[in-house]
Amino acid sequence: MAKLLAGAPAAAALAERVRGDTALLRARGIVPCFAVLRVGEDAAALAYERGAAKRCEALGICVRRVTLPHDAPQEALLAAVNALNADPAVHGILPLLPLPAGLDGRALCRALAPEKDVDGLSDASRAAVYGGDESAAPCTAAACMQLLRHYGIDPAGRRAVVVGRSAVVGRPLAMLLLAADSTVTVCHSRTQNLAALCREADILVAAAGCRGLIGAEALRPGQVVLDVGVNTDPGGALCGDVDFAAAEAVVSAVTPVPGGVGAVTNTVLAAHVVTAAKNCENRKKGA
Ligand code: NAD
Repeated sequence: MAKLLAGAPAAAALAERVRGDTALLRARGIVPCFAVLRVGEDAAALAYERGAAKRCEALGICVRRVTLPHDAPQEALLAAVNALNADPAVHGILPLLPLPAGLDGRALCRALAPEKDVDGLSDASRAAVYGGDESAAPCTAAACMQLLRHYGIDPAGRRAVVVGRSAVVGRPLAMLLLAADSTVTVCHSRTQNLAALCREADILVAAAGCRGLIGAEALRPGQVVLDVGVNTDPGGALCGDVDFAAAEAVVSAVTPVPGGVGAVTNTVLAAHVVTAAKNCENRKKGA
């Protein structure tokens, strides 16, 4: 039976550190502050905002919510992000993506001040992740690394296969695993012989958003499997990309969905906000 890599203990350990850092900052008169920028009332965006705000507030971080109507023009969006960029009380900014049709998400990410980018969206963050900087990575990719560390799984020298090449999960995670000395293969929708490649992995990450993509034929004993996918089964229940029952019977460790990677992401976000606040203080000291 595989070991369950539950997200909650990893998140709790990280939260302890974030709480300590927040208390130290507050004692010096700095209140870490995070702004979430949402356009429209999309249910998934609202749910993400609620979860992120709740976690940050519980860890002593002040949360500012900025909301624009779904038909806001691009100029209003850029004005909102520029105002947050210029506000010295705000340390981290999270624009909720994707934006409603007609708005340019890449332009928004380019406008984001790199030092306030807490989810790896800006070009500067992408460049830093290319160099292996986990603190600049999108929260989900960093959450995968946090889970591995928490459970004492060292990627060095191991073969990692990442299924998914998106800018928010697959690509940055591949860079972080490479920086941690894994030998990394990135698979995607045009990959041939996916199952055979997956079987070669010591660490297998499924981040495709495709229910049932990773079944018994893609798994072998000894593997560590991180399931990033969030899908719904025909009964409406949340599930990942990995056939959990098949994985549990074969591999050595696997994350559940829900309760795995997703349970760590918001705490990583809080950690990124606190790091941004600390960096801001250090810049002021250095100025
Ligand atoms: P995306 O749609 O942007 O990218 C999906 C990637 O998977 C693409 O690179 C695509 O080539 C690849 N892919 C799709 N079908 C495939 C197939 N049949 N075989 C091989 N590769 C395939 O999605 P994303 O934003 O990267 O998210 C991926 C999944 O992770 C989604 O289920 C999403 O909900 C989930 N997610 C979870 C968290 C979390 O915190 N747990 C955060 C972000 C995204």
